Amino acid sequence: MTQKQIAVVGGGVVGVCTAYFLAEAGHDVVVIERHQNVAQEASFANGGIVAPGYASPWAAPGMPRKLLSYLFRNESPVLLKPAIDRALWRWVRQWMSECELERYRINRTRMQRLAFYSRDVLRQIREYYQIDYEQTQGVLQLFRTEKDRKLAEPGLALLAENEVPHQILDPEGVRAIEPALASDTPLCGGVYLPQDEAGNCPLFTKRLKQIASSIGVQFHFTSTVHGIESESRGVALHVDDGRYPADAVVIAAGMDSVSLLKPLGIQVPMYPVRGYSATALIKNFEHAPQAAVLDETYRVAITRLGGRIRLAGTAELGSSSAKLRDRALRTLLKVGGDWFPDAANYAQANFWTGTRPMLPDGPPLIGATPIRSVYLNIGHGSNGWAMAAGSGKVVADIVSGYAPEIDTDGLTLSRYG
Ligand SMILES: Cc1cc2nc3c(=O)[nH]c(=O)nc-3n(C[C@H](O)[C@H](O)[C@H](O)COP(=O)(O)OP(=O)(O)OC[C@H]3O[C@@H](n4cnc5c(N)ncnc54)[C@H](O)[C@@H]3O)c2cc1C
Repeated sequence: MTQKQIAVVGGGVVGVCTAYFLAEAGHDVVVIERHQNVAQEASFANGGIVAPGYASPWAAPGMPRKLLSYLFRNESPVLLKPAIDRALWRWVRQWMSECELERYRINRTRMQRLAFYSRDVLRQIREYYQIDYEQTQGVLQLFRTEKDRKLAEPGLALLAENEVPHQILDPEGVRAIEPALASDTPLCGGVYLPQDEAGNCPLFTKRLKQIASSIGVQFHFTSTVHGIESESRGVALHVDDGRYPADAVVIAAGMDSVSLLKPLGIQVPMYPVRGYSATALIKNFEHAPQAAVLDETYRVAITRLGGRIRLAGTAELGSSSAKLRDRALRTLLKVGGDWFPDAANYAQANFWTGTRPMLPDGPPLIGATPIRSVYLNIGHGSNGWAMAAGSGKVVADIVSGYAPEIDTDGLTLSRYG
């Protein structure tokens, strides 16, 4: 392998993991990030779930009907701000066509291939460097109603087919795993994924940033990339007032990757799907969850991060404003109050909103582009934390000219023809 000078655009969890593995492979790496630190956007206060067994596309059979039925309710897993936005409606059309069963199976299988690999890579980093990022073991998925349990059946069939360890539970079984669950909230059953995990994504990202710096990665903060040009011997990046040459660039700029790629003639159907989280201090530890819980009805994740509890979810389409929406926060607070009412004072939580860089079919886009020296690591949607370590390693292998350790079929730009 020849040592290259490589620029990574974006210091979210995906960019930092990519930079770490590029440096580990012997390259000279610079991360260019417009904020003052890493993990300040989508990676900042996400749900924390690292659940490859649960990683699945949002486009699933029965999903359009389910989301429509919730649209006008007070508490809802989805919010739609009607907007005259052609990109939104184009995205929704593509998303609907991916909800068909066969497409769902293909997309979920592709995502899980990367997510399982990523969990292993994350564990290797954690063990090697002894990083503590408030990780917990086991993920419990809850179904409030029979209807929700039925909707999850295609996913459960795939868990069985792929021999992913899981337990299908009745309400008593669910409560045996998570005894603090409130007893008066309707519960039809659940699925327990003992090998899945959760953890604090920005804490991990900051720790990995320190490790990456110690092996030579340079971080250029408060620096914005305004454009990328392809050159005969690599690329040139326009960074604020300067021009920065590199042998190659990896674009890991979350949603902003779309506008960096467009002038290069690369169109990606990525759309910002806004989400919200609430993080509260635990006041009664015996009433708090021991590990991660997912409310399938409202699609809200409840995670235990050290002495805090985090509620994260809501998919809001059509909103470009980062203003906290009451309706989204109400849904989070309802779910927290329904399952762990005495664990925390949710009204005093810290609220946050961020956008998931979401592709209509689900899997991210990693690896090469038609432009030599320009590589991607984007579009991880709701699973960027769960997939970051693995996609960082795969992209570093591809840039270095090594064969990745997993098959990248269906994870690259070529799937869009
Ligand atoms: C509410 C919510 C809950 C979630 N829960 C989970 C979960 O439980 N599990 C999970 O796996 N995933 C979850 N996700 C998704 C996950 O957070 C994202 O997929 C992941 O953080 C994406 O990481 P990233 O590095 O690609 O993007 P980001 O973290 O957004 O990083 C991109 C970076 O690029 C920088 N940048 C952009 N443009 C430029 C430029 N031109 N120049 C310089 N810098 C630039 C930005 O400043 C930013 O720091 C959730 C997301 C949300 C919103």
